[in-house]
Amino acid sequence: MSKVKESNFQVLDMKREHYQLLINGARVDSTSGETYECKNPATGEVIAHVAKASLKDAELAVKAARHAFDHGKWRKLPVGKRARVLNKIAGIMRARFGELVELEVLNSGKSIGAAQGQVMQAIEDFEFYAGAIVGHRGSVNNVPGQFQNITEKEPVGVCAQIIPWNYPMMMAAWKIAPAIATGCSVIVKPASLTPLTAIVLGEICVEAGVPEGVVNILPGSGGTIGNFLVEHEDVDKVAFTGSTPIGKNIMETASQTLKRVTLELGGKSPNIVFEDCDVNAAVDGSLFGIFYNTGQSCEARSRLYVHEDIYDEFMEKFVEKTSRLQVGDPFNKGTHIGSIISEEQVNVIDGYVQSAIEEGATILAGGKKATVAGFEGGYWYEPTIITDVHHEMKVVQEEIFGPVVVVMKFKDEKEAIGLANDTEYGLGSAIWTKDHGKATRVSKSIQAGIVMVNCPFSAFPGTPFGGYKQSGFGRELCIETLDLYTETKSILSYYGGKPLNPFGL
Ligand code: NAP
Ligand code: MG
Repeated sequence: MSKVKESNFQVLDMKREHYQLLINGARVDSTSGETYECKNPATGEVIAHVAKASLKDAELAVKAARHAFDHGKWRKLPVGKRARVLNKIAGIMRARFGELVELEVLNSGKSIGAAQGQVMQAIEDFEFYAGAIVGHRGSVNNVPGQFQNITEKEPVGVCAQIIPWNYPMMMAAWKIAPAIATGCSVIVKPASLTPLTAIVLGEICVEAGVPEGVVNILPGSGGTIGNFLVEHEDVDKVAFTGSTPIGKNIMETASQTLKRVTLELGGKSPNIVFEDCDVNAAVDGSLFGIFYNTGQSCEARSRLYVHEDIYDEFMEKFVEKTSRLQVGDPFNKGTHIGSIISEEQVNVIDGYVQSAIEEGATILAGGKKATVAGFEGGYWYEPTIITDVHHEMKVVQEEIFGPVVVVMKFKDEKEAIGLANDTEYGLGSAIWTKDHGKATRVSKSIQAGIVMVNCPFSAFPGTPFGGYKQSGFGRELCIETLDLYTETKSILSYYGGKPLNPFGL
């Protein structure tokens, strides 16, 4: 009987000065000896040195993942045992929740409240998939004659998982949990700016008893390591979360080896406030919808459409509450808006805002870089509201990925739907109305993977997360994700007593 081996590996200090690669169940330095500095974006200070994977390391990781998949026992374990290991991962994370949150805040500059929610969701992802995998199975199909057809779900193989910097821990969990639940092996390429919690999560997997080679973590450059994994013929699937341009790149490269590809890409999500809504709830939900995680959310509701009849009342409240948002020390419990991830990103955000001003837009709040006393070395931007915009403007069409919302008036349902659908993206969307019929009609008309009705939140473990149009394809966080980490094998057998002779010879 196959057993889950107890692991001697223990993650001691989560917060430390040096982080290594995780390959084949062991922490290793880069074969090149190279490291890079990892910063706290709230202070600009270096908080750790991280091994930078070379192409040789990436090759070693692919070999380890391949070997674990082809010859290891993980995928052959009874599903209940894999589930038990996933629950153990969640258990270690729960026991060390405070340390994980601290590390996430230090590396991302996000507010502690946001980090707590995201680390908790990462834990719940493992618990969700521990349960879901037990019920994930093939089918028995209706076929004519004396034939039996069953399908089996087999793990797809070695998966390269490339993730962004905005939700470092949560994205790592969204990727690793369903993949290893099905029996796949993974190589996670965290964002260069935020590798720490993904590295630690990989180590926790090993501590929990995930066999060597099943989970590998490779911090390093996306353009080299990431691309290498996407090209590699021993990698069977790429699961990518990041920007739409890089997603297109990945799809093209992956086509050379016909890898399975899932893409969770950018967004420019509409938030439609109808005249018959609960105005206060809509104000609070819209505020959270854009400014949560400092606006660095793929499903940030960054286009706000307000019905003309309540526009003045809504905007007065929305602007007033925006002015009360606390920007500053991410570790302060009262902070709503943490830092921006990098100086480069602050400049991108400001470039968008300035372009809007040049094109005649009006700034109702914010509109410039912020300074925070005691955090002068960090990267900050004021929560910003822009009006008097045209729909063709860059700030309306392009993803800014910062605390910036554009606001427009509309006069009826048809116009709101037309505006909502007028971008290349289709990830999130929100509707505020008390009219059930209207909510249902608009939900059905919106071209987006996610519709939030009178709701500020976009997803919990179990709810499908993913996009329409150029926001990508594939769904994460849900049962369907397991299908995307498995192949369906059809087994057709004949059970008749009389041998078949189709050629009649
Ligand atoms: P990004 O620049 O596209 O990078 C994402 C990841 O891809 C990083 O790990 C990056 O590595 C790597 N990468 C870069 N170039 C690559 C290449 N040529 N081949 C393979 N990998 C490569 O995105 P980001 O700036 O980190 O994150 C922001 C974007 O993510 C936004 O567009 C946001 O909407 C999107 N996002 C989407 C979702 C969703 O679920 N739909 C969730 C979160 C974020 P380096 O860090 O080394 O560059
Ligand atoms: Mg980037």
